[in-house]
Amino acid sequence: MEKPSNFLRQVIEKDLEQGTYSERKWGGSPGDRQHHDQGGPDPAKIRTRFPPEPNGYLHVGHAKSICLNFGLAQDYGGVCHLRFDDTNPEKEEQEYVDAIRDAVKWLGYSWEANGTVHDYHASDYFDFMYRAAEYLIEAGCAYVDEQTPEQMRVNRGDFSRPGVDSPYRSRSIEENLARFREMRDGKLEDGAAVLRAKIDMASPNINMRDPTIYRIKHAEHHNTGNKWCIYPMYTFAHPIEDALENITHSICTLEFEDQRPFYDWLLDRLQEGGLIEPPHPRQYEFARLNLTYVVTSKRKLRQLVDEGHVSGWDDPRMPTIVGLRRRGYTPESLRLFAERIGVSKADSWIDYSTLEGALRDDLDPKAARAMAVLDPVKLVITNWDELMGAGHLEPCSAPVHPHAPERGKREFMFGKELWIERDDFQDPPPKGFFRLFPGNKVRLKYGYVVECRGALFDATGKLYEVQAELVPDTKSGTPGADAVKVKGNITWVGVADGVKAEVRLYDRLFSVPQPGAGEKDFLEELNPESLKTMTAYVEPSMRAAHGGENFQFERHGYFVADRKEHLSLPQQSGEGKYVFNRVTGLKDSWGR
Ligand code: ATP
Ligand code: MG
Ligand code: MG
Repeated sequence: MEKPSNFLRQVIEKDLEQGTYSERKWGGSPGDRQHHDQGGPDPAKIRTRFPPEPNGYLHVGHAKSICLNFGLAQDYGGVCHLRFDDTNPEKEEQEYVDAIRDAVKWLGYSWEANGTVHDYHASDYFDFMYRAAEYLIEAGCAYVDEQTPEQMRVNRGDFSRPGVDSPYRSRSIEENLARFREMRDGKLEDGAAVLRAKIDMASPNINMRDPTIYRIKHAEHHNTGNKWCIYPMYTFAHPIEDALENITHSICTLEFEDQRPFYDWLLDRLQEGGLIEPPHPRQYEFARLNLTYVVTSKRKLRQLVDEGHVSGWDDPRMPTIVGLRRRGYTPESLRLFAERIGVSKADSWIDYSTLEGALRDDLDPKAARAMAVLDPVKLVITNWDELMGAGHLEPCSAPVHPHAPERGKREFMFGKELWIERDDFQDPPPKGFFRLFPGNKVRLKYGYVVECRGALFDATGKLYEVQAELVPDTKSGTPGADAVKVKGNITWVGVADGVKAEVRLYDRLFSVPQPGAGEKDFLEELNPESLKTMTAYVEPSMRAAHGGENFQFERHGYFVADRKEHLSLPQQSGEGKYVFNRVTGLKDSWGR
């Protein structure tokens, strides 16, 4: 299927046509310049990268970025690098690194190509970054500034006025080099000095007013230990990481648009100095994903977890990739979603129903069908013993999938006692209600037609049993079964062979479309009814359901056997624990 074009595809197609990057060499080892020079032509036509900071679990916004970067590489004969952006000397948590790798793999992508595993850590390039900084000093393009942070802020100016040169801006190259080395050697305290690029203090783009490129931070780094007490700023590190990895198209979110001139300035300088090979990578920006009824900020997601508003990063209500997975989203549905929302250069909010629509479209042709009764009440067939014999169970069957007969049939038993949905009985019946009420006939799907005779209620007036009589010769699939016409068709599960299960009905996590956008804190906008747990009955084929398997429960929507808590024991004695999460209903209900 031809994918719809977008501005990024156009850029890439033009670069491929013009051979912009066709002369590049690939040494197989990013950052190793000697190796690089001896390398052969790059086997990858384009290189993109996905550069997460390993400080939390990825969310649906990251999924968009993953699908975009890995998807473009795949479509154009390229490679996408996975790069852990760990230039901040913070403790890297292996848990996050592992979860990020898992998420990318689960989404169906690979960072292995042409025999190379493209899994990198930005901190591996610290030596090169340091050399690049010294080069800028030597070229008269950087200086050590010792103004206080406050002076620096004031002297940077703002949109209404140009900045003011720092008194340290005119230092000699020798002095700068010596001072920078003192910074490196730990002679200065945190915050005592920074290295700044020397560009233009009057630039209308504030980011070009001599941005800071190195700062002092006496902190241990998980990868480089205590080797460094100065660390590169993100805006300096990122273009270098891209260049060393031979990235061609560096795709980021819109908030980095104002950084693009510095990205180019820096790589142009390093190219002049022969530190990197031309042509250097280019940065392109697209609009980040904002999805209604959820939050997509690692900080806020962490707060939900830390304060116990959800059960963890993988709570099925979380928009994290682990949460969506546990909720029942499939990799295919997330890729379809990413494709449908496309990429644009304008920020917007995507309706949550778009995500659910992609899931339904993915699962409808795939998911096995099953009957489940979520809010059960007993239906007793009062003439069963007389017609069929006491204790008789009548085998019934239904296709695993209505459009795929080759997938076979599910089997279950019809008997004297059945579970039906509580609201399938109404007395008196509201207008247009064709299900159970005294005197009405309905078909129990894949079973028989029954005629309702009445119901029993407990002392509080709560319905506890519905009674009906079987209409003989109406078994589905037998000759003449359709002779008795009915308007209602309901689902059921046999009391004899039904499996007790816990069903978790999830609703939107927040009760407003843009949590935290107004006056209130986002936490005050949590939906208190985002989880409803029911004790349900499911048909016996569900004994074999394994964690992570998706189903369509007829009339109810799409469900998944919970990856973590569902435990099926079809072959063994003893009961398993059956837990199903509702992913989404059968129809869009967000407009309610
Ligand atoms: P957050 O703001 O949630 O902490 P981040 O941008 O700081 O996210 P990173 O780990 O730095 O998280 O992100 C890795 C990549 O994912 C970046 O290239 C970033 O552009 C992209 N990304 C992050 N959030 C979104 C989003 N909502 N939509 C699209 N891409 C995103
Ligand atoms: Mg970030
Ligand atoms: Mg961020």
